Amino acid sequence: MTDARSTPETPAAAPAPGPAKAARLPHDRLGRRMHDLRISVTDRCNFRCAYCMPAEVFGRDYAFLPRRQILTFEEIARLARLFVALGVEKLRITGGEPTVRRDLPDLVRMLAAIDGVRDLTLTTNGSALPRLAGPLAEAGLRRITVSLDSLDDEVFRRMNGADFPVARVLDGIDAARDAGLAPIKVNMVVRRGVNEESVLPVARWAREAGLTLRFIEFMDVGQTNGWRMDEVVPQAEILARVDAAMPLEALPAEYPGEVARRYRYRDGSGEVGVIASVSQPFCGACTRARLSADGELFTCLFAARGVDLKAPLRAGATDVELLERIRTVWAGRADRYSELRADGTADLPRVEMFAIGG
Ligand code: SAM
Repeated sequence: MTDARSTPETPAAAPAPGPAKAARLPHDRLGRRMHDLRISVTDRCNFRCAYCMPAEVFGRDYAFLPRRQILTFEEIARLARLFVALGVEKLRITGGEPTVRRDLPDLVRMLAAIDGVRDLTLTTNGSALPRLAGPLAEAGLRRITVSLDSLDDEVFRRMNGADFPVARVLDGIDAARDAGLAPIKVNMVVRRGVNEESVLPVARWAREAGLTLRFIEFMDVGQTNGWRMDEVVPQAEILARVDAAMPLEALPAEYPGEVARRYRYRDGSGEVGVIASVSQPFCGACTRARLSADGELFTCLFAARGVDLKAPLRAGATDVELLERIRTVWAGRADRYSELRADGTADLPRVEMFAIGG
């Protein structure tokens, strides 16, 4: 495998808007612009993946957010419009499992109508796509990311904690393709001793099927997944497994700040990427804001707390006041958790990933 990656990732991660607008957009204390907004529409999920929402902790009695605390679609759309005014061009709907939220296509329709949104996508476990892919596409969704950790039904059922068969996720991917969603990306979290044997079969399948595959290193998000460094299969090892069977060469980043390191199969049959937040952190290029289902703004996946936008919103704040609040939070941002990750960070309080969106 060769490494042709030419440019190191730089903080200026977003495609440049016009000079006048750029001057007005907030930059954080490390010079990073706000370019992406991840919107969690629910903290609930029909899966219980042990690395995210382990069943022993999130059982029948677990108190998920009550309905009144969750932002309505109108509230989400209003906030999204304000984020777009501050430079966001890409919206990702996520969760929890976003498809468990009723009438999701209505939200897609509202977000797709916002002027200035260049990219609108959704991350899902794929379980509801046989029913929803068509309505989502019809509402204005263009592309989609499906999480899929193994093609081995036994491994997959065990990992999703809900005994959900892999065949139904594959049906969902077919439905997404039939609905015209493209590109379809597949995210696979790799956890040592659990699914590293699935790396090569999933890579082969994705290559055959023309899907864009992203391996994800198991991350220390939240405080319930019992994360240990020795369960992380690092990027180098994931790539070595694939490269040994299907030789790879590195691709340069498509844009500064791209989180996945991308590789092309040397025979020209496609590409694969790795999101190596543990072994190769990319905080310097992070341009992501996250809106939790209950309306808090987070500037880091590993944060302990967010800043409440729902209270002012529901108390009648004007757009100007809300814009100022968002701008101030972003301008004060200096987080770079993954780059500082060390033994000392292991016990710090952290929000669960399903609460703020992956
Ligand atoms: N339910 C949706 C799904 O399955 O894609 C969206 C939310 S989920 C939190 C988003 C992504 O985060 C999924 O691809 C999931 O595999 C990933 N994820 C969750 N916990 C993780 C962890 N500890 N390390 C790495 N990725 C994780």
